[in-house]
Amino acid sequence: MRKVLMSACLLGRRVRYDGGSLLLSDQIIEAWHEEGRIVPVCPEVDAGMSVPRQPAEILRGDGDGDGEAVLDGKADVVEVGGGGVTEAFLAGASIALALCKKFSIDIAVLTEASPSCGSTVIYDGSFSGQRIAGAGVTTALLRRHGVRVFSQHDIAAADQAIRGSQVHQSGV
Ligand code: SF4
Repeated sequence: MRKVLMSACLLGRRVRYDGGSLLLSDQIIEAWHEEGRIVPVCPEVDAGMSVPRQPAEILRGDGDGDGEAVLDGKADVVEVGGGGVTEAFLAGASIALALCKKFSIDIAVLTEASPSCGSTVIYDGSFSGQRIAGAGVTTALLRRHGVRVFSQHDIAAADQAIRGSQVHQSGV
């Protein structure tokens, strides 16, 4: 059974920074539940961060402030009050990767725009609501290890990938 890593907040778990969730009601998700495919993760809470917690964004240093830059040590993750949380975000990403390795997962559905889980857009580090193209820290790490990461807006494509031919998983 090919499993899928999913952001816990999309499954209704109240793990977001504001204590809420982003429960996703979708027939495809229901089918994944019934098939026992879903492996939940909240990189931030699994790394020991509290609920609620301060909102955090990736701070643009040289203008390349996305998850890739954080992995390369070129950008930091900061809370709205200025506290640095880069280490916790890196730890959370490592936890997510460990789950992928444990369950041979090569498909993930993660929450768009999160500094951990975003897959196509993230906030720009100014805490002004501005979004930029880029991925969160967990997404960036998973992609470096061959995991395909989809957002909750692309569930059908994720399902197609899960039910398609098995991909070579040695990179996970
Ligand atoms: Fe946790 Fe990711 Fe959801 Fe944020 S977006 S609450 S890190 S699962």
